[in-house]
Amino acid sequence: MIWKIYNHGFVVRTATVTIGFDLTRARLRKAPDFGLTDHVLTRIIQQCDALFISHRHEDHADEWVAQTFIDHDKPVVAPPDVWADQPVHRKITHLKREAHSLQSLPIQNGKRSLKVVVYPGHQGNEILCNNSLVFTPEGMSFAQTGDQSNGDDFTWSDHVGEHHRVDVLMPNCWTPDIDRTAKGFDPELIITGHENELGHTPDHREPFWLTYAKLEQSPYPLVLMGWGESFHYLPPTEVETRRNR
Ligand SMILES: [Zn+2]
Repeated sequence: MIWKIYNHGFVVRTATVTIGFDLTRARLRKAPDFGLTDHVLTRIIQQCDALFISHRHEDHADEWVAQTFIDHDKPVVAPPDVWADQPVHRKITHLKREAHSLQSLPIQNGKRSLKVVVYPGHQGNEILCNNSLVFTPEGMSFAQTGDQSNGDDFTWSDHVGEHHRVDVLMPNCWTPDIDRTAKGFDPELIITGHENELGHTPDHREPFWLTYAKLEQSPYPLVLMGWGESFHYLPPTEVETRRNR
């Protein structure tokens, strides 16, 4: 089950694990009264086993959320430049940013582990932006791209699907050339995020209809969700996968 949380946040739950991506309270400087309460976020965090933070911007990274995960002995994975000058930095897990390489992340106090590829993405030229591809113990996989927006990164993103089977791709709706990103990851399903970011000025609050317009002709199925909605994803059977290829 996949829940979309404001704004590029997701919670993914399978039979054995629950994973958070870019969860924040959305305490936005430009919309300070909009955010979720500590209480709501704490309840969500209690359900999760790990948090993946794509990059340092406040609409993706909330230090209070990261610290609460850590206080509950749940790993937080982020690029090395997130809160580099804060005490929380040494409690954060910095996996290698390396295309296609599977790494292991213990969760649930070592009872289980996730397999993770941290693709070395960027927002623009400077900001490190992990594109995390996470495999659950069931072998299902979920990729979230943060604010990925760097033309040079197509050198690896064009080939993700050749190395790994991707179930669900959760890209930022405004990533440049979303069709090329989709083709590179070659997922079974796309669920976009980051529509109508209230922390952005109106010219950069991409509307939901624009995502639909961009992906209407895409060969990949799209589920376009509002904040708080959920979708029960069923992976294809092996026979269906072979038939589709
Ligand atoms: Zn963003």
